[in-house]
Amino acid sequence: MNNFGLNIWANKNFIIEDGEIKLNYKSMPSLLEIANEIRSNNVKGPLLLRFPHLIKRQIKTLYSYFYKAIEENNYKGSFNAVFPLKVNQFPSLVNAVTTQGKKYNYGLEAGSKAELILAMSKTPKSANITVNGFKDEEMLTLGFIAAQSGHKITITIEGLNELETIIAVAEKSSLRVPNIGIRVRLHSAGSGIWAKSGGMDAKFGLTSTEIIEAIALLKNANLLDKLTMIHFHIGSQMSDIAPLKKALREAGNIYAELKKMGAESLSSINIGGGLAVEYDQHEKAHARNYSIDEFSSSVVFLLGEIMDAKNVSHPDIFTESGRFIVASHAVLITPVLELFSQDYQEKLLNFKESNPPLIEELRELNKLLTNANCIEYLHDALDHMESLFTLFDLGYIDLQDRSNAEILVHNIIKKALYLKSSNPTNELEQLQIKLQERYLINASVFQSLPDYWGLGQHFPVMPIHYLNTTPLRAASLWDITCDSDGEIGFNPEKPLYLHDVNIDENDYFLGFFNVGAYQETLGMQHNLFTHPNEYTVNITDTGYEITNHIESKNILDILASIGYDKDEILNKLKSDVEKSTFITEKEKSDTLTKLETFLNQNGYLRTTN
Ligand SMILES: *Cc1c(COP(=O)(O)O)cnc(C)c1O
Repeated sequence: MNNFGLNIWANKNFIIEDGEIKLNYKSMPSLLEIANEIRSNNVKGPLLLRFPHLIKRQIKTLYSYFYKAIEENNYKGSFNAVFPLKVNQFPSLVNAVTTQGKKYNYGLEAGSKAELILAMSKTPKSANITVNGFKDEEMLTLGFIAAQSGHKITITIEGLNELETIIAVAEKSSLRVPNIGIRVRLHSAGSGIWAKSGGMDAKFGLTSTEIIEAIALLKNANLLDKLTMIHFHIGSQMSDIAPLKKALREAGNIYAELKKMGAESLSSINIGGGLAVEYDQHEKAHARNYSIDEFSSSVVFLLGEIMDAKNVSHPDIFTESGRFIVASHAVLITPVLELFSQDYQEKLLNFKESNPPLIEELRELNKLLTNANCIEYLHDALDHMESLFTLFDLGYIDLQDRSNAEILVHNIIKKALYLKSSNPTNELEQLQIKLQERYLINASVFQSLPDYWGLGQHFPVMPIHYLNTTPLRAASLWDITCDSDGEIGFNPEKPLYLHDVNIDENDYFLGFFNVGAYQETLGMQHNLFTHPNEYTVNITDTGYEITNHIESKNILDILASIGYDKDEILNKLKSDVEKSTFITEKEKSDTLTKLETFLNQNGYLRTTN
C-alpha cells in the first residue's frame, strides 16, 4: 500500500487508518473530519490548519535531548532556546510557541525593528530575547528600552560599527545597557541551499581581528561586563552535521580565548538555528544525515571537551531553531477542483447502431480484459488507436467514432494499470508517466509554498482520504494562479501518484505537510491570492476544538492593502450596475446584493469545492 512516505516525513505525527490520514494524538481525529466540519460553514478554498500540540512536541523533544546530553556528559552549563520570529510571525503561531514553551521559559529572537517590538510585547520577563541582523541606532536604543523594561535581552553585534553605536547610546543615556553578544565570522561554511550564513565570505559576523578590537572597545567604555554571548548560525536546513561540528570547535575556542582575555561575564554560546526537517517522501533522498540525538550530543560533548582542555567553565548553550520547532505544526488542505482528463469517462461513450469494426474490437477488448491477457490486449488497443487516428485523418471515421476510441483506449490503459499495479511492467510505467493527470488545486503555490517556487523545495503531499485504494494516476499539480510556474510537475524520480476521483460527484482533498516554517511569511500575493483561511485545532481526549479562526482577506481588503480606495471601487461598480438599462428593478437589486457579497469574500474559487 502506498503510504506517500509517511514513515519518512511524518515523525509519527500522522497515521493512516480506515483509508484516512489521522492525527496520531489523543482522540485521533482525521484531517477529513476537521476539513469537513470547517467547510460545513460554507468555507471554500484552501485551509491552513495549525496544531499546537505538534509545536509542544518539538519543544519537548529539543529540550529533552539536550537535557539528556547534558546529563550524560556531566556538562555544567544550562540549555536555553529562543524562537526566531522570521520563521513565522503570525499571531496564532507566536502565541502557540510562547504558550507551549512556557514551562521551559522559551524566548523569542528578533532580526528587525518590527520583530523586536513583537518580541518585547510577547516574551515573558523570565525568558530570553536575542537580537540579530543589521541594526541602526534606533533599533539598538529599542534594545536598551527592552533592558530597562526588565527583559533578559542580548543584542548580538554583526560588526564593530554596531558596537560603537551601543557604546555611544550607553554614554548619552542612562537607560540600562542590554547584554551584548558577538557574532563570529566562521572560517568553516555551512551546508545545504541556505549555506550563505557561514564561511569566510559570510554576510554576517566579526573576524578574529575585529573581535580583539571589540574587546578593547568594550574595556575602554567600561562595558566588558556586558559581553555575555558568542553567536554563530551556519544556515538553515543543515543537511550534514560535519560543518556544525567545525563551527562548534571554532566558536568554542574563540569563547575560551576571550575568557582568558578577561571577558569574565561571557557565559553563553548561541549556536543559531539550522536543525533540519525531513521533507522527503521517497526512500532515496533524505534531507539530513543526523538525528536530534546526535545533534544535541555533538553540541554538548564538543563544547565540554574544548572548555575542559582550556580549563574554562562550561558555557550555557542557546539555540535559535525555527524550522525544526514549527514546520510540522501546519498542514495546508487544498481541494482538487478538476482532473483535466476526466472527460474520458465511460459514461460519455456514445455508440452508434453500427460502429466501425475497430471500434467494435476495442469494445470487446475493454469488456474482456483480465489480469492474464491485459498486456496483450493493451498492445492491441494501442495498435487499434493508431489505425483509428489514421482513418480519422483520411476521413473514414467521424468525430464521434474518434471520441469513443479515445475513451475506450484510456479505459483499457487504466484497467491494465490497475490490474498490474502491484508489479507494473516497464512499459506500463512509461505509459503511466505519459498519461499524466493534471490535478487543479484550489490554492496558490506562490502564496502557500513559496519555497517550492523559489528554491524547488519539496513538501510532502498526499490525499487525506481514499487511502484504502491504490492511486494509479501519475499526477502533476496545477494551482489556480495564471502563472505557469504555479505547477508542481510530475517527477519520475520522485513520482506522485493520485486517485482517479470523479470530482463532479466526490470531494478530493490533498494535504501539504510541514508547511509551518517560512512559507507563510515568504508567501506572496501573486494574482492577489492571499493567506488562506487559518484555524488553530486543539485536539482533546474526546474530540477537538477549532479556535482562532482568521479569515482570508476579502477582495476589497486585498485591493485596499496595495493602496486602492475600496469605497471608490465599490461605488464605481455599484453605480455602473445602477445606471444599466434593460433589467428590471428586482434584477438590479439582486445583482447589487450579489456584487457586494462577492467583494466581501476571499479570492479563492468557490465552484463546487
Ligand atoms: C534564520 C535564523 C535562525 C533560524 O534558522 P532555522 O534553520 O529555521 O532553525 C536562527 N538564527 C538566526 C540568526 C537566523 O538568521
